[in-house]
Amino acid sequence: MTQEKNSVSSVMDRACRVIPGGVSSPVRAFRSVGGDPVFVRAAQGAYLEDLAGKRYIDYICGYGPHILGHGHPAIVEAVSAALTRGTAFGAPTLEEVELAERISAALPSVEMVRLVNSGTEATMSALRLARAATGRDRFLKFEGCYHGHGDSFLVAAGSGALTLGVPSSPGVPEAVTADTLLAPFNDLAAVEAQFRRYPGEIAAIFVEPIAGNMGMVMPATGFLEGLRRLCDDSGALLVFDEVMTGFRVAWQGAQGLFGIRPDLTTLGKVIGGGLPIAAYGGRRDLMEQVAPAGAVYQAGTLSGNPLAVAAGTAALDTLSADNGAAYRTLDEIGQSLEQGLREVSERRSIPCQIVRQGAMLGFFLSEKPITTLADVDACDRELFSRVFHRLLDLGIHLPPSPYEAFFFSSSHGPEEVAKTLEAFDSAFGAA
Ligand SMILES: *Cc1c(COP(=O)(O)O)cnc(C)c1O
Repeated sequence: MTQEKNSVSSVMDRACRVIPGGVSSPVRAFRSVGGDPVFVRAAQGAYLEDLAGKRYIDYICGYGPHILGHGHPAIVEAVSAALTRGTAFGAPTLEEVELAERISAALPSVEMVRLVNSGTEATMSALRLARAATGRDRFLKFEGCYHGHGDSFLVAAGSGALTLGVPSSPGVPEAVTADTLLAPFNDLAAVEAQFRRYPGEIAAIFVEPIAGNMGMVMPATGFLEGLRRLCDDSGALLVFDEVMTGFRVAWQGAQGLFGIRPDLTTLGKVIGGGLPIAAYGGRRDLMEQVAPAGAVYQAGTLSGNPLAVAAGTAALDTLSADNGAAYRTLDEIGQSLEQGLREVSERRSIPCQIVRQGAMLGFFLSEKPITTLADVDACDRELFSRVFHRLLDLGIHLPPSPYEAFFFSSSHGPEEVAKTLEAFDSAFGAA
């Protein structure tokens, strides 16, 4: 009876009756690979456990937060201690000041920072601030870059590189996305064309400095520098959306890696240690325009929540301990995974492209290098689905879409990497 009630298909049936698509966020459904999602009962270290007790090596890691693995003792301890002190005060705390200080110390461009609850909130707030600070409405984003589900950001990739934004979801009025300009990622000439077309009208460029929501795509040489220059020349603000890359590709984020100083930065995922927290921050003169210091309104009942702040602080302290030893570990794991995947795919004659930076890995079933969304669209989706399901059977849980990067953690050791590569070998062999 219990087993019947908990069998995945019956739980999915129940889920679909009360929750749209059975999931609390669409990426969790298996729409792009087919089948029903794994319902997770618990997670520890590098492993997820489903309702039937089957274990999987996890390459989702909460879509980014769990860079230390699930249930890291430092985070569990910090959250447990915070829980006994209270879960929300509606008043400032010393701990949120300390988290803000840590973020600011790690990212020199972030002179001041405001804590919010989700990456979506962070980008929406950063856009409002950029518009207020420049007195301009238009902004530019890149095809295939995701900045949360705020109306203004929900613009289809579109086929024409220089078209005006067309909403990619019903319910988003065209008027709201009319000021959203698009360009293909890594196409500086297209960005320049937009700036020529709308001189003095563009408030900001929003960019994932390493794109992580169309698989993982590195910026071409000179691309980010070009964006910085265009912003400087035109009075637009450069906003790095590091919700995914912040503290994951490196302690100092992609901005530190490439040595580019954005005007504003959005953060999330890792800085919450697995609890809901995000942030936006940047130049002092800009952030001082945020209420109540300035007139740009933004607020949140649970912002700076003590549990989330405790988790985030513990995560950052663990990552920075011992001169960033965790990043050296992550790099070793990443290297062996990357190298191993290359060898396996070569041995099995499966053409693929692999990119990696820190604890993030892009894996594309493609013969040619990936630099834009169009390249990602051209990958073999059908093969991805087959490989995905074979791996799932073998206890390897990849993100259920070819448009997601793989995330791993410092809990993924040599044993997990070896098991993963063995499973890939088998999955590729059967493909
Ligand atoms: C995940 C993500 C967001 C949205 O964050 P949520 O917490 O899901 O709202 C925004 N930008 C980037 C780059 C992301 O990866």
